Amino acid sequence: MKAKQKYGAGIWHFATYVDRYATDGYGPSRGLLEMIDLAGQVDDLSVVDINYPFVDKSLGLDDVEKALQRNNLSVIGITPEIYTRQFSKGAFTNPDPGIRKLANEMVNDAANVVRRFNANYVKLWPGQDGWDYPFQVDHKALWKLSVDGIAELADQNKDLNFVIEYKPREPRAHMSYDSVARTLLAIEKMGLPNVGILLDFGHSLYGGESPADAAQLAIDYGRLFGMDVNDNFRSWDDDLIAGSVHPIELFEFFYTLRKNNWEGVWQLDQFPFREDPVATANSAIGFLKTIERALDKLDFEALQDAQNRQDAVTALNIAREALFSSYK
Ligand code: FE
Ligand code: FE
Repeated sequence: MKAKQKYGAGIWHFATYVDRYATDGYGPSRGLLEMIDLAGQVDDLSVVDINYPFVDKSLGLDDVEKALQRNNLSVIGITPEIYTRQFSKGAFTNPDPGIRKLANEMVNDAANVVRRFNANYVKLWPGQDGWDYPFQVDHKALWKLSVDGIAELADQNKDLNFVIEYKPREPRAHMSYDSVARTLLAIEKMGLPNVGILLDFGHSLYGGESPADAAQLAIDYGRLFGMDVNDNFRSWDDDLIAGSVHPIELFEFFYTLRKNNWEGVWQLDQFPFREDPVATANSAIGFLKTIERALDKLDFEALQDAQNRQDAVTALNIAREALFSSYK
């Protein structure tokens, strides 16, 4: 029997946010312990991904551990903040070798937190590694630094896994790790067993990929180490409730994972700017449970048969019947 599906969320789901307009935030700011307590209120959440250094610099690992314990939560990954102001011209690709060293040290510190919490991986989101303008960078040099910076970390921490979360843009106008293909190319170049991809469904969507195809490619190269879901209108990383805009593509993504017997946590990466974070997480997980039921109901053989003939109408009818009859 298949193990009970685990759900997770980035702890930032429970933060309050600022943007270019509401520069003092859409609500009172919350400390990490408060966020963990909110995560604990979600009906079916068992793991979280935590940013490091912690938002409240005074917190020790014991404080965080206690908060996690009282909420029955464990840690899947630690996300070092290699994308804040000091890294505004890149972490791994910063022109200043001193800043590149700082990034390396911060990730190594995060690696120790991964060990302490017995988490699965260090998550790298190189949001500032890229460029904004034509002629701004030497593309050959930038790509080499992108690859070498992560390879060095993976080599320094052979006992741990590193996942790269690619994203087409924002905050940089172009990100170095912008797609499944470039990320796999980098990982192949590194040639190390402990570097993989964390596939963010929304990043894939707005990068113009088909997330199901991106997942299949990452699986075929043995590099799909993690995933998270959300939704958007395809022109930006809106981080809306999973399934709210692209339910059928979300279903195809999970169908691809099931078809390949990929097992792992189904994580949320949502930013509820104006919504209640607990209600938002419950809504998303409710829909993910619909997908689970639909996968149990889906006629995989009939679907494969239709795909073998590229019979779009039959395939879509089979998928829609399973998905939409499973909603409750
Ligand atoms: Fe994400
Ligand atoms: Fe994102």
